[in-house]
Amino acid sequence: AKARRGNSLCFFDPSMQVSLNARARLVADLKRALPGNQFLLHLQPQLDQQGRVAGAEALLRWQHPERGLVPPGQFIAVAEDSELIVPIGRWVLDSACQLLARWQHDAALRELCLSVNVSARQFRQPGFVEQVLASLQASGARAHRLELELTESLVLEDVQDSIAKMHQLRTRGVRFAVDDFGTGYSSLAYLTRLPLHRLKIDRSFVQHLGESHSDDVVVQTILGMARNLALEVVAEGVETQQQCDFLTVHGCEVYQGYLFARPLPLAQFEAFVRERAGP
Ligand code: C2E
Ligand code: CA
Ligand code: CA
Ligand code: CA
Repeated sequence: AKARRGNSLCFFDPSMQVSLNARARLVADLKRALPGNQFLLHLQPQLDQQGRVAGAEALLRWQHPERGLVPPGQFIAVAEDSELIVPIGRWVLDSACQLLARWQHDAALRELCLSVNVSARQFRQPGFVEQVLASLQASGARAHRLELELTESLVLEDVQDSIAKMHQLRTRGVRFAVDDFGTGYSSLAYLTRLPLHRLKIDRSFVQHLGESHSDDVVVQTILGMARNLALEVVAEGVETQQQCDFLTVHGCEVYQGYLFARPLPLAQFEAFVRERAGP
């Protein structure tokens, strides 16, 4: 009992209390966000080597009634811990599929792919596969236009479960990318066992291309390995022409970053695509 009192003293440290309150408020606000229609998706263009928009990554934004537009870095982790990520993730998937279905009727947009981030808790949820298939079916979106981004650590925390779920969705046409590639494990054996379509090179490697020999080598190695495995590579966080040139020379196929566009509200994204589509 004494030890427990010791722990609880520590737990109610006054500075800690503030952050617990802030966190409790955040959770309460997050609970209201979905019924209050406060979420939206911004879309960041992904360009091919010809500068055409091949697709987009859907990035979640929270339009908080007092705090304004809140980026996911400030609430995704809390949503994960509180399991609110499950209904939020479902909303993201439904919204992405509805968008894809709408694009089908527009000649300039119908070839676009849309990538969606999937959190670990959402992916591990029983019924995840059925949920994705239901979103596709309800919207009428074509499965091969939907890409799910999974991080290395998510895949590796339970490889058997990951492979099983990915195969079930892959056979229906859904594509998979490994997000933040290179930041996680050094074991690459899993790569050949997964039904993957793309690797996304993490921004932290792209950032210092041309300035850091070790990052140059890492990126060249990833690109060479991807070529051997017949995987497409997306470079994320491309901010300078120098980075872009390096990536092009070494065979990177898809580019995402502020050099081309920030994540954009839907209407702006669609205008950006039309502008780049050519005659
Ligand atoms: P991420 O999946 O690695 O997404 C890329 C992040 O890099 C985005 O931040 C994007 O705005 C940012 N970014 C893109 N290009 C550049 C660039 O050139 N320079 C710099 N400095 N940053 C760039 P964002 O939108 O704040 O999202 C942060 C993270 O939140 C995402 O990282 C992802 O892990 C998570 N997230 C976003 N949307 C969702 C979602 O719908 N569900 C889940 N589970 N997580 C999400
Ligand atoms: Ca991502
Ligand atoms: Ca990423
Ligand atoms: Ca990242």
